[in-house]
Amino acid sequence: MSERPPGNPAKGSPEPGLGHGLEAPAARATIPCPKCGTAVRDIARFCTRCHATLRYQCPSCAHEQRHGGTCEKCGVDFLKYIASVLAAKKAEADVIHERLERRSTLLKNVLTVPFTLGIPLIRSFFISRDSKK
Ligand SMILES: [Zn+2]
Ligand SMILES: [Zn+2]
Repeated sequence: MSERPPGNPAKGSPEPGLGHGLEAPAARATIPCPKCGTAVRDIARFCTRCHATLRYQCPSCAHEQRHGGTCEKCGVDFLKYIASVLAAKKAEADVIHERLERRSTLLKNVLTVPFTLGIPLIRSFFISRDSKK
């Protein structure tokens, strides 16, 4: 006389269809390089193959975008902005350079003497090494 008990109360029924993580990993998204077509990571600043610029950062507000030209956020013209910044920096550097130049002319002359004397020695050293070969 052996009768099976109906069902099995010890085992709970697991929920079917859930718990499968099949979402696409968003962090590994790639974009094709506009220049050579290589798939490069979406977050890359330059193409890994042809080094084309893929991201442009606004020099004024640091906003990042896919194209150069003008900033989507603050409307600044990249080239104009950079040119003006460089021009200002160059003018500044020229003034500083000129001041240093005047001040250090004497010092420079003193410093360049051993250097100019040293060059013939170095050259003759290499030439003699070369000819010995
Ligand atoms: Zn490329
Ligand atoms: Zn901007």
